[in-house]
Amino acid sequence: MKLENYISGKFVESDSGEWMNDYSPATGEIIGKVPKSNERDVDKAVKSAKEALPYWSSLTHNQRADWLDKIADCLELKYENIAHLESKDTGKPISLAREVDAYRSVKNFRFFANMIRDLEVEYFEMEDATNRVIYKPVGVGALITPWNLPLYLLSWKVAPAIGMGNTVICKPSELTPMTADLLMKTIDEINLPKGVVNLIHGDGKSAGSPLVSHDDIDLVSFTGGTSTGSIVAQSAAASFKKLSLELGGKNSSIIFNDCDLEKTVTGVVRSGFLNQGQVCLCGSRILVQEGIYDQFIQKFVEEVENMKIGDPSDENTALGALISPEHLSKIEEYIRIAKQEGGRILTGGYPCLPKEFENGNWIAPTVIADLSVESRCSTEEIFGPVVTIHKFTNDEHAIQIANNTRYGLAGSIWTEDLEKANRVAESIHTGMIWINTWLHRDLRTPFGGVKDSGIGREGGRWSIGFFSETMNICTKHD
Ligand code: NDP
Repeated sequence: MKLENYISGKFVESDSGEWMNDYSPATGEIIGKVPKSNERDVDKAVKSAKEALPYWSSLTHNQRADWLDKIADCLELKYENIAHLESKDTGKPISLAREVDAYRSVKNFRFFANMIRDLEVEYFEMEDATNRVIYKPVGVGALITPWNLPLYLLSWKVAPAIGMGNTVICKPSELTPMTADLLMKTIDEINLPKGVVNLIHGDGKSAGSPLVSHDDIDLVSFTGGTSTGSIVAQSAAASFKKLSLELGGKNSSIIFNDCDLEKTVTGVVRSGFLNQGQVCLCGSRILVQEGIYDQFIQKFVEEVENMKIGDPSDENTALGALISPEHLSKIEEYIRIAKQEGGRILTGGYPCLPKEFENGNWIAPTVIADLSVESRCSTEEIFGPVVTIHKFTNDEHAIQIANNTRYGLAGSIWTEDLEKANRVAESIHTGMIWINTWLHRDLRTPFGGVKDSGIGREGGRWSIGFFSETMNICTKHD
């Protein structure tokens, strides 16, 4: 499969004439080729988005919401195709690609269509004047996304961005370009006005970096690693581009003595290992109160060992492959570090190669105990199927451990005492906390982190706010 950039309503090769391979994480085979775009491609894409802006931004909210619905309708027809491409490109189980990636990609367009249609002008009356607050487009947006939830995250940005009247250039991860291409084909099929959505493939250095620093980019929405986020922030700040950063996480699952143990174990296994632990929200630090520590560990390890790892296209597979050989090496290195730091591997910790996939990137789900809460493995983002378990005594101790990282994205609390859960939740320095559940999303709520996990919030009205400029018009009465 040879993919092309999508600029001004046309599929085109890169000006560079260079190509990059797209590999299957499960088998190591080459499954596609993507253009290695450069600053000239970026320039063309930005020009196309700029030219499309006057017409697109002149449409009403309702007209643009209708376009979002058209995209959702057309994507919905490709539901199975999205799931298969995503599973093949990322190595994730097909059931997950169907339930999470395909489902949310369609839902994101539908959700923002409804939200934008319902947007009302706000009025603030004074005794002698009326204030009218309106939403205007920001301009041309750069939307940069990672490889773990490719279309899910891209659609999360494209829908509110174009819904609010901006035109955009998408830059998906070079590792997972397939469903971004499918979205462009969908947009082409429904004849969305040309230039409203453009896409350039390529890596961060040759395509992402010139895109962020381009003079005609007004807004940058970036999801990815914290170190890349820092580079993006510095580049965007030079010309005061509107910026949203959704970055890494090292999230705690806090488990109290009085939790419902069965449900908690199932919930915490899911939060530790969904998508092979490659979700920014994954609960990779498991804090267990001392009264149930041994009992929890026994049940938890049993349930982890019962997860079926293997062929991503098998409906019963729970764990697939890791995204790349480099990522696998990084995770193996963290397991080595854990051993040096005095960690005890309770299960996993070794490469695990299903026979037909011996050239893919596989590792058994890994549970590590006995590490200090200051250790590297319990404070740094590993972003793989590796969790560390720690013991705590009381609420204050749990809060102190949970806050002891540079990250502040999310977390979960497991207890039957909801008053305690809410009190502890408010003391945790993150943007989101779940109580007795995990990754239970209402798209109207704010999504984002604090500290090194990012700047700003997306989701619901926070996305509307980010992807628009609010303007107040004050009229004095006679
Ligand atoms: P990266 O930061 O490596 O890459 C993210 C995107 O940025 C990719 O498209 C990448 O391109 C691009 N990029 C790289 N360098 C630059 C640059 N200098 N300028 C502009 N763009 C650039 O992240 P990963 O793809 O490895 O994703 C994993 C990370 O994403 C984890 O840390 C995870 O926590 C985080 N994440 C955060 C989420 C959140 O909502 N908070 C959600 C999902 C993931 P390319 O890869 O093609 O080089």
